[in-house]
Amino acid sequence: MATGDRPGVSGELTGVGIVSGTSPTIAIGRAHLLAPSELEARHYAIERKDVLHEVARLNNAFSLVRAEIDELARHVAADAPGEVRAFLDLHRMILDDPLLCDEPRDLVRSRLINAEWALTIQLEAVCKQFEAIDDEYFRSRSQDVRQVVERVMKALLSGSNTTVALPPKPADGERLVLIARDLSPTDMLHLKERAEVDVAGFVTELGGRTSHTAIMARSLGLPAVLGVASAREAVAEGDLVVLDAEAGRVRIQPETADLAQYRQRLRAQVESRIALRKLKSRLPRTKDGIAIDLMANIELPEDARDALDAGADGIGLFRTEFLFMNRDQLPDEDEQYEAYAKVARAMKGKPVVIRTLDIGADKVLSEKARRSLGIAAGAPTVESNPALGLRAIRYCLAYPELFLTQLRAILRASSVGTVRILVPMLAHVHEVEQTLSFVARAREQLKERKAKYDARVPVGGMIEVPAAALSLPAFVRRLKFLSIGTNDLIQYTLAIDRADASVAHLYDHLHPAVLQLIARTIRVGGRARMPVAVCGEMAGELDLTELLLGMGLRQFSMHPAQVLSVKERLFTLSTKAAAKFAARVLRADDPLQIRKLIEKSAARPAL
Ligand code: PEP
Ligand code: MG
Repeated sequence: MATGDRPGVSGELTGVGIVSGTSPTIAIGRAHLLAPSELEARHYAIERKDVLHEVARLNNAFSLVRAEIDELARHVAADAPGEVRAFLDLHRMILDDPLLCDEPRDLVRSRLINAEWALTIQLEAVCKQFEAIDDEYFRSRSQDVRQVVERVMKALLSGSNTTVALPPKPADGERLVLIARDLSPTDMLHLKERAEVDVAGFVTELGGRTSHTAIMARSLGLPAVLGVASAREAVAEGDLVVLDAEAGRVRIQPETADLAQYRQRLRAQVESRIALRKLKSRLPRTKDGIAIDLMANIELPEDARDALDAGADGIGLFRTEFLFMNRDQLPDEDEQYEAYAKVARAMKGKPVVIRTLDIGADKVLSEKARRSLGIAAGAPTVESNPALGLRAIRYCLAYPELFLTQLRAILRASSVGTVRILVPMLAHVHEVEQTLSFVARAREQLKERKAKYDARVPVGGMIEVPAAALSLPAFVRRLKFLSIGTNDLIQYTLAIDRADASVAHLYDHLHPAVLQLIARTIRVGGRARMPVAVCGEMAGELDLTELLLGMGLRQFSMHPAQVLSVKERLFTLSTKAAAKFAARVLRADDPLQIRKLIEKSAARPAL
């Protein structure tokens, strides 16, 4: 049976789930639909005698919205995330831009049209300019312009306050899930800051992973599902909805049994997160007092917040390729510098390991971007064996300007934090040597320009190709640290394309060959007193913490959401017992026996 007041009207919607740090990924509450766009205002011609009146209405509306944003800015909590202030500043800037506040006045005068019409014309003109920009980030900023204009339009229509109306409190004490076409950062902040409104999460029809709405959701710690087409048609005011941000799913009026399960999952998440959060400020150590570094893997500069929120000891892997994908023009040195420096600054001296571009295989550049590198139009985007093709360091060495630009940007970021360079997919020693000479060249270029950088930025290598794991000493001699990319090490050891679902069942991280290569890398690195980390998914799997610790691993890098759970597990483990356990696993050559040993270790109760 469906729950709530609309029996039978149940369903499921999907979108892009936004999970923030250690906050719960599930939200349950009554839907509150926010008013649709107010941009469809009446358009009409005016007489010359009415010009002054219309211009005054415009002035009044702009002043009202300015005052509201300033008021919100005054009330932003002192410890609010930096993004919150940044959004208010951005919206204030848009509001003050002459293109938006002066041009509509001129349109009223010259075309004799009402204020709403003039504002709509100008909005479309400005948005067109944004949308023509060859850069996804700037293109998506047209959304901010629309949000600001929508506010001005509301002020024009009502002649007063434009902040979203406070929703009524559900009678049954449930929290609220906001459903909107789009939710501007200012509206979100307004609702979040009001104690009487208990927002559990939100769903929007617009927005994606990098939209401002997503960034705000993360910094406010609210689960969200964005880009849900027709959400406001499918959900009715007051419906009970379950938002599963991990799965990017919205359940409307779920069956009673399903709802009970979701409530149970949410309770468990809240309880475990409360317990885990208490560990945030405790240093990660084993039961026998050995210090461990727990680092975070990130993909976008904004993710650094999640890393800090989880109390990570640094960024162990910044996958920079996401700055290069889904766009037609590659990021130049300054844009890259800003992104890397943002993370370096945010981490306040904690190490930030920036991986050089790992493009190729399943991560491809757009056709236009490839052409800008000199790749002929029509050249195949996907080679016959992409995972074995021109990927990662091979790609960078093939396009020296692309590589040098990135190296200069990374080196410059070292002037504002603790930065390390990590090179992916090394198989040959000559690739290390070529990389080091590129780094030296990038340094020279910066020196000539008198640009600031730290001359001692260490260069490390990813061990993710068996050839490198089996010929380590030559790599160890030339590099300053190693990071084991288990995701690819499994792929290349077992000859399983990690993106091919038809062979996914053969992708086995417990295959004895994989375990031997990991153990060997940790051992050889350790003997040379070289820091060795694991940054593949295995580092965040609780079942494997004891095994990796027992192999001698002292640096784990994982998704921010896993950091506190792994820390909790480490407190229960002793390095001596773990070493014995790892030795037993490594002696076993039967995958079934290995699996049983791991299951036994995972089931051991916390001490
Ligand atoms: C890996 O291969 O384990 C790794 C961390 O890199 P990616 O998953 O980005 O290939
Ligand atoms: Mg990899």
